Amino acid sequence: MRRLLYLENLTLIALLFGFVGGVYLPELMLKLKILGDIFLSLLKMIIVPLVFTSVFIAMLGLGDIAKFRDIGTKTILYYVTTTTLSVLTGLVLVVLLKPGEGNEVFHRAGDTPNVKELTLVDVIWNIIPSNPVRSFTEGNVLQIIFFAVLFGLATLSVSREKMKHVFNFFDGLNDGLINLTRWVVRLTPVGVFALVGFMVADMGTEVFFSLWKYALTVVLGLTLHAFLTLPLLGFIFGRYNPYRYLLKVREAPLLAFSTASSAATLPVSIQVAEEKGGVKKETAGFVLPLGATINMDGTALYESVAAVFIANVYGIELSLPQLGMIFLTATLASIDAAAIPGAGLVMLTLVLSSVGIPLEGIGLIIAIDRFLDMLRTAVNVWGDLNGARIIDRFVR
Ligand code: ASP
Repeated sequence: MRRLLYLENLTLIALLFGFVGGVYLPELMLKLKILGDIFLSLLKMIIVPLVFTSVFIAMLGLGDIAKFRDIGTKTILYYVTTTTLSVLTGLVLVVLLKPGEGNEVFHRAGDTPNVKELTLVDVIWNIIPSNPVRSFTEGNVLQIIFFAVLFGLATLSVSREKMKHVFNFFDGLNDGLINLTRWVVRLTPVGVFALVGFMVADMGTEVFFSLWKYALTVVLGLTLHAFLTLPLLGFIFGRYNPYRYLLKVREAPLLAFSTASSAATLPVSIQVAEEKGGVKKETAGFVLPLGATINMDGTALYESVAAVFIANVYGIELSLPQLGMIFLTATLASIDAAAIPGAGLVMLTLVLSSVGIPLEGIGLIIAIDRFLDMLRTAVNVWGDLNGARIIDRFVR
């Protein structure tokens, strides 16, 4: 009985109740949204200070630039490999299953969101904070990481005596923030219940029927990536049982599913990786914030499937070089997507415009996007956690 009441299990039960509530008591669930919003705000409150302190003390904890180069290279290598594999999985599936070909009927094509076109230069330019205080107030996580890494590297070369004080100060702050996360995490079942219930009540269930083949392709791809590709990498390179590890840290992917935000999940990812997954503090503090921001396997997979699906609906035949372009831009879009709900949908414009698919096509998939967003975010977060565990093996 006690086991059943573990927070992770309660979260899962709350999720199921949220679904049922959304279907049978939509009015009530729409009203209860406020509980989900409060929970989300509490999580968001922790993100900015936690990202800065985690990355900064991870840098100091590594102790020297050579070690940073080592862990940095391995982290980026892991992220590039898994993102590549996920886009490939998406492309192979969408080419084989051909969703959107023929005369599918769309009942609830929504409006196209306001879109801006992005260039590669914008993407890179966005990383450097001209004013770090603004990055903090705007919650621009990638810029905060950039600043924390550089600042951390520079601090490594101040005198040992001074460094000890700096380290202790930020380490204390970091511990305090992790404690705060632990408190907020106790509210997870309530937050998850309210968020999932609202999503189902707001979206309705009929949308699943009109877009079933597209949704199925995304879901199948995400499932393969999460339960086959990622575990295989964990098994081979991390030498651990990835499924057992997933069970231990499951609270983070569950929360990612409910919030559709890797950023909001980040405090919990760091906490469970360290306390339940046995990942070292300096690894978790470096790999997870970076991963939440730039490593989005689920998003990358979804981008490629969505782009080809829209092309199919418009009857556009894609050549092999065009598929190659989708592969590249889907990867880039996932790196640049903000870790917030719906970011992937906005970034899809980058992919579509790269091969001349009409941007209005986004209106076709918008109705079902929130649900797919929840799933892809869970995979994004699982990808980061898996990476943290693999890379931890190489950090001494
Ligand atoms: N919601 C996703 C995330 O936070 C990003 C996306 O929209 O794909 O990881």
